[in-house]
Amino acid sequence: EPYLLQVKQLITNFYTEDGVFSAVNDVSFSLKPGETLGIVGESGSGKSVTSLSIMGLIPKSNGKVEGSILYNGKELTNLSEKQMRKLRGNEIAMIFQEPMTSLNPVFTIGNQMVESIRLHTSLSKKEAKKKAIDMLKRVGIPRAEEIMNEYPHQLSGGMRQRVMIAMAMSCTPSILIADEPTTALDVTIQAQILDLMRNLKKDSNTSILLITHDLGVVAEMCDRVIVMYAGKIVEEADVRTIFHHPNHPYTKGLIQSTPQLKETKQRLYSIPGNVPSIKEMPSGCTFAPRCEYATDQCLHQVPELKDVGTNHKSRCWLNEQKDLLNEEGA
Ligand code: SF4
Ligand code: MG
Repeated sequence: EPYLLQVKQLITNFYTEDGVFSAVNDVSFSLKPGETLGIVGESGSGKSVTSLSIMGLIPKSNGKVEGSILYNGKELTNLSEKQMRKLRGNEIAMIFQEPMTSLNPVFTIGNQMVESIRLHTSLSKKEAKKKAIDMLKRVGIPRAEEIMNEYPHQLSGGMRQRVMIAMAMSCTPSILIADEPTTALDVTIQAQILDLMRNLKKDSNTSILLITHDLGVVAEMCDRVIVMYAGKIVEEADVRTIFHHPNHPYTKGLIQSTPQLKETKQRLYSIPGNVPSIKEMPSGCTFAPRCEYATDQCLHQVPELKDVGTNHKSRCWLNEQKDLLNEEGA
């Protein structure tokens, strides 16, 4: 079994007063050991819900996760909350966009790190403290011993994110899920944090599931990429193919609207319109209202995710039309 994580036909539904809505709709993908897989898309595309579903963090009061999530052969959807809690942080760790929301403001950095390390290891308090200081140093935090006694609000955003990464990596997880880890940070700090994640990955062979709206981050970090739109995967390929031979009109739009990737001095492109609300999904191709190539078929029939090359999949009717032309030509 070469995969560490296998997600199959994941569906995450939310139950509301207005009905049942799918935030994630039939998503399948795999993650290999040591691989960095990017999940990209605008906000509202279902990327974060996908990661929260894997972590078992969808509230049971109004949400339901269907399908299969295999981690190391273990079916996560069958685990109890207690078993999931043990897995979280220990084997699958997560860092978020705004560390302030995951750090407790009333405890010192040292307190939180020691507690988190002890929760997942059998280290003594003294050993855990030593480990915490080591980790803070590893993520490039100066004066690590002093920072241990400080509170989250005393640190800058970049420092807080380093602390979160130190905390996440201190239990040597096999998977790190990073949801917009650098979005709240300025460009210089962002580059430092990405460097740090790359180095940690090299040292520990941790697999990373990197969730971002930023294709610049994907280009720098990822081996493979999944593009999500309106709860579905619309394209999947290795990172070179995504940037050099994108297939799906949505992926092409995302690339054209990413400043770091544009060589020309033309005005930056922006995809017209917005991601549809999960309560108002268009029938047919969900991207059709924003797609310059949309045909009548696109408005009425849902395209499937199909192979368009080696390890390259796309969900677009244009490919079938091309196939048809090829067949007719032959
Ligand atoms: Fe555009 Fe049609 Fe392809 Fe959807 S299926 S992305 S509307 S061309
Ligand atoms: Mg998100």
